Parts: sequence; structure tokens; C-alpha cells
Amino acid sequence: MDSLLRLEGIRKEYKIGAERIKAVWKIDLDIKKGEILGLVGESGSGKSTIANIITRLITPDEGRIVFKGVEISALSERAFREYRRDIQMVFQDPYSSINPKKKIGYLLNECLLIHEKGMSKAERMRRVMESLEEVGLDASYAERYPDSLSGGQRQRVAIALALILHPSLIVLDEPVSALDVSVEAQILNLLMDLRRKYGLTYLFISHDLNVVSYLSDRIAVMYLGSIVELGRVEDIIGNMAHPYTRALFSASSDVTATLSGEIPSPLNPPPGCPFHTRCAFIEERCKKEKPELVEMEGGHYVSCHYPLYNKEG
Ligand code: ADP
Ligand code: MG
Repeated sequence: MDSLLRLEGIRKEYKIGAERIKAVWKIDLDIKKGEILGLVGESGSGKSTIANIITRLITPDEGRIVFKGVEISALSERAFREYRRDIQMVFQDPYSSINPKKKIGYLLNECLLIHEKGMSKAERMRRVMESLEEVGLDASYAERYPDSLSGGQRQRVAIALALILHPSLIVLDEPVSALDVSVEAQILNLLMDLRRKYGLTYLFISHDLNVVSYLSDRIAVMYLGSIVELGRVEDIIGNMAHPYTRALFSASSDVTATLSGEIPSPLNPPPGCPFHTRCAFIEERCKKEKPELVEMEGGHYVSCHYPLYNKEG
């Protein structure tokens, strides 16, 4: 499969006074055309930083972003404009990401006014209604205010706002984490239907490995700013090589239940393997050398000196 978006050597530190938060360390990541790539890791591992770098809400300190063969990270804001509509984002909290003062129909129409300058009013109306229908909301929602909607309905509106410009890539940053479990399943199924129907590509971010493995084609596991395991879902679930992936999977929502200690602060990350302070399989080497992300077999990568691959079933 062709790559739609590629991150090359992306690094990001946040500076707070004299302090440096190492949010993302030199990450390489490829999102293939038409796939759902799941990005999973505990809170603070750098997932939203990656999402915000891809959508150009923040600038990386180092590295390149290549989208459809174009190095978009090198483009001016003006030159990037034609790509902005092609890369959309859905945020975790549909209460803060949607303007509460405007009717849903107004918000959807506004996207078209900004990005589809030549479009007729009639065509815009048609697209607004179509996008509501796509996300399972009837035409009456165009006249409603966000305040009158449930969290799930709002997230449907957020998805409609992302879809209306017919993007190639949608970055979904914890899109179901704020929703009730019953609503969560409906939204996940909606996302999967839309992907099938339009051949969309998603970067789907979540702290929950069960959710990510339910809908993704491939999974990237992040820990403290680095990708520690990457591969097809069936390869990762069938043979979790990194001790952290195993802990995430067994813990489902509460990682601290199976991992010892807290995730270290990215202000002062441990030397060597970033996971060594919590790893049950630690050896001397892990305290000194940071393991590279290496391919074990066809498309399955792990960053661990002593991967659990093929051990302990
Ligand atoms: P995740 O989405 O996986 O929870 P984030 O990318 O939001 O991770 O955060 C990674 C690290 O960077 C965290 O330690 C977080 O506190 C820090 N961080 C994120 N955004 C900022 C910011 N704007 N200023 C300072 N630190 C930040
Ligand atoms: Mg986040």
C-alpha cells in the first residue's frame, strides 16, 4: 500500500521557562492510503503532540512531514492552505471543539464558505444535508444548537464537520474517550462505515488498546515520546513483543493496575530504554542503551533489547 502521510525524524520539546518537556523523540511513522492506523499509549506519551503536528497546529523542532509526496512541513501557511482541507481532525471533547453559539447547519456551511469558494448556495445546502445524513443525523439537526445535543450527537457533528470537505486523512484524537460505552460502539461503527464507503484514511488515537485493536489495520504503541511497537493488528495481538504492549493490553483502561509505578515525567526521562523503570524483564543493558525500533519480521517492529517475541506464547 502507498504511503499517504509520512513522519520522518519528528521531534518536539515544549519549553516551560528553563525546563524542557521531551514530548516526542525522533519518530518515524508511515500512514498508508486507506488504512486505519491506531496510535495507542498512556496519557502523556505524546499522542496529541503527533496529532497536532500532522494538522499543523504545532510545529516540530525537527523532522519532515510528507503528505501525498509533498513535504508539507516546508510549505508556507499560504501554500499549505490547499492541504489543510485534505487533513481533518476530530478532537476528544465535542463540547469544546464545536462553537456553541452557532446552529449546526451554520457551522457546516461555514466550512464550505471558507474552503469551497466557488460553490453555489444550493450546492452548499445539499452538501450540508448530505453530511448530516452521513453521520446519522436527520435534516432537522441543521437548525439545532450544539447545546441541545448529547455528547454522542455532538461527536457525530464533529465528524460531519471533518467529512464535509471530503478529506483524504482524518486524525481522530481520542474521539470516543469522553463518551458512554454504548455510544462509543455506535461512533466506532459509524467511523468504520464511513471509511469503507469513502476509502478514507484514519490516524485513530486512543489510550485504550482494546478500542484501537477493534478498528485498526495497524497499531503503533507509544511510550514516553517513542514508538515502542508497530505492526499489523493480528501480528501485535497474536504476538506482543514489547512488555509495555502486554501491560497495556491486559490493563485495558487502567495501565497502572499491571505496571509498577507511574509513567516517568518527560521533563526528566530515564536514560537507556524509556520503559526500563517499569519493566518486569529489565536487564543491565536496558538502563544504559536506548533500543532502536527494529523489524522482527514483515512489518512488525519493536524497540526492546529483549523482546518477548515467540517467548511465553
Ligand atoms: P498524550 O496525548 O499522549 O496524552 P501529549 O502529546 O498531550 O500526550 O503530551 C506529551 C507530554 O507533553 C506530556 O507530558 C504533556 O504534559 C506535555 N505537553 C503537551 N502539550 C504541552 C504544552 N502545550 N506545553 C507544555 N507541555 C505540554
Ligand atoms: Mg492526548
